[in-house]
Amino acid sequence: MTKIKVFKNLDSLKFCLNCEENVSFTIKEKTVSMVINGAEFSYPAKLPYCNECGMEIYAAVLDDENIQKANGIYHELAKGERG
Ligand SMILES: [Zn+2]
Repeated sequence: MTKIKVFKNLDSLKFCLNCEENVSFTIKEKTVSMVINGAEFSYPAKLPYCNECGMEIYAAVLDDENIQKANGIYHELAKGERG
C-alpha cells in the first residue's frame, strides 16, 4: 500500500491577492518591457502565476532575479551601442 504524505510547505505557496489565500503556483516566462536611462528593451522575466485563478503573483525574490537579468541585458546593449 502506498501512502502519500502531503506536506503543507509554505515555501511552495504564495499569497494570491485575487484568491486572498496561499496558493500553489507555476513559474512562467513572460517578455517584459523596461526602460533604463531612456533605452527601451525587453527581456524574459520569470513570474509566478496562481494555479487557482491564473493571475500573476508578486514575488520579491523573483523580482530581484528579473531586475538583475534586465540590468545585464541593458549593459550588453549599452556596450553594443558604443561599438
Ligand atoms: Zn489566485
